[in-house]
Amino acid sequence: MHGLMMDTPLLTPSLIVYAADYHGDTEVVSRSVEGPIHRYSYREAYARIQRLANALTRLGVREGDRVATMAWNGYRHFELYFAISGIGAICHTINPRLFHEQITYIVNHAEDRFIFADITFVELLESLQVRLGAVEGYVIMTDAAHMPETTLPDAMCYETLLEREAEEFAWPALDENTASALCYTSGTTGRPKGALYSHRSTVLHSLSVCTVDNAIALSSRVTVLPAVPMFHVHAWGIPYAAPASGAKLVLPGARLDGESLYELLEDERVTHTAGVPTVWLGLLDYLRESGNKLNHLEDLLVGGAAAPLSLIREFEEDHGVNIVHAWGMTEMSPVGTTGRLKRKFESLSPEARREIKRKQGRAIYGVELKIVDDRGTRLPHDGKSVGQLMVRGPWIARAYYKDPDATAAAFDDEGWFATGDVVNIDPEGHVQITDRAKDLIKSGGEWISSIDLENAAAGHPDLAEAAVIAIAHPKWGERPLLVAVPRKGAQPTGAAVVDFLRDKVAKWWLPDDVVFVDELPHTATGKVSKLKLRERFAGYKLPTE
Ligand code: AMP
Repeated sequence: MHGLMMDTPLLTPSLIVYAADYHGDTEVVSRSVEGPIHRYSYREAYARIQRLANALTRLGVREGDRVATMAWNGYRHFELYFAISGIGAICHTINPRLFHEQITYIVNHAEDRFIFADITFVELLESLQVRLGAVEGYVIMTDAAHMPETTLPDAMCYETLLEREAEEFAWPALDENTASALCYTSGTTGRPKGALYSHRSTVLHSLSVCTVDNAIALSSRVTVLPAVPMFHVHAWGIPYAAPASGAKLVLPGARLDGESLYELLEDERVTHTAGVPTVWLGLLDYLRESGNKLNHLEDLLVGGAAAPLSLIREFEEDHGVNIVHAWGMTEMSPVGTTGRLKRKFESLSPEARREIKRKQGRAIYGVELKIVDDRGTRLPHDGKSVGQLMVRGPWIARAYYKDPDATAAAFDDEGWFATGDVVNIDPEGHVQITDRAKDLIKSGGEWISSIDLENAAAGHPDLAEAAVIAIAHPKWGERPLLVAVPRKGAQPTGAAVVDFLRDKVAKWWLPDDVVFVDELPHTATGKVSKLKLRERFAGYKLPTE
């Protein structure tokens, strides 16, 4: 027997309609690409979103068309999220930090009809334009006064397009499973793969990340600044979730350096923020050098890569900020687990609490987890058994976009998605990532976790950043090489770093060599690029050979 409840579809425009109706005067603040801070209300945002929906319709965008964006976190990008998906088209957010070949690949693979770009990316698009086959038009996200000279064919101006349109738009009654947005994985291995989100998955994910335990704890009493780009899995869903909760939204534009972030965090009295460890290490550097303190920030969500213990400690001790460690993936919309502490752990010592916080957190409601061995057999959640993490849930991809080979490789017979992360899960449900399947160091038939070694090394006071890769070894198969960036002014030695690690990891885990570099290569999403590091040290001879 069916229940007798209304079956109203979950559609993305409902998120911004709600904000306009019930939080109409709450602000969306942006650091614009042109320079000044821009502010308007959800009510004004919604009026412009309707104009944009009319403009897209006039351009000939139809249901199912892919419309791409190449833009920073700003109000026009925010408008595009809702207008494109609202009319039934698909908002493809291009990560401009991808290699040029990858950008060309994804634009052609997605068959984008239009690209909306910030002025910052006009030159990049000019250089790629001849290879972007299906693109019919480019819209530069600025006003007439800032319109650049460009060789892009028939480039249009965003504000000019909006000017002549009406502020009312009747949203089509779409099926909630209609595709709404498309993001490609950052492609650290192989070619980028497309995750195609639906209206339903986006709305459910938004509702979930608003909740206190599940992620970002958004509400109308909160001011949230996503320091993760809107081209990286929708800034972890915040631009959708903020209007759904009535939170004030602060969009930091192109500037994610410590000083610029600090300025916005303080000026706008930001209470909640989210981003990758690299961004937060930059902010901590700035705070240390300037002697400034964070006066309003309460919660800082860190994810995308493992949060070092030293980062958690410094934010908590020096700035009174609660760190919430989270894990997710492009294929998961992206939030999968978050580490807000349960009340029963509050009485633990600060160090013991941080030991829990450095894990990647518990599954949020809606996300099912299991760990399996090489044969696909389930392993217990005992905090010791290590295997590949598999996931299932309503905002997790069930296939890759137009990519049957990648799909066949990533999903098991029961529909679970193989994350490629190697983890243990403790009896409380805390997930601890020990590695990416491909980054493990297989030494003498045993596994060494590069992440554990990196975390331990990151605690060395003279090191700013550290990465561990496997180097071929005639006796052991592979052995770890530690590549580290010294902190400004410090001159650590390899022997001192290895000594530092002695009481932190098993003896046979100690790196066979330590190499100091000025900088580590990062991927387009701010993670250390193990791929590039491995290329750079290909053929490296360890002293232990
Ligand atoms: P992406 O799809 O680019 O967001 O990358 C997802 C991958 O990033 C995951 O499969 C993990 O390997 C890694 N990742 C995300 N969050 C964390 C975290 N908190 N700790 C360690 N690795 C993480």
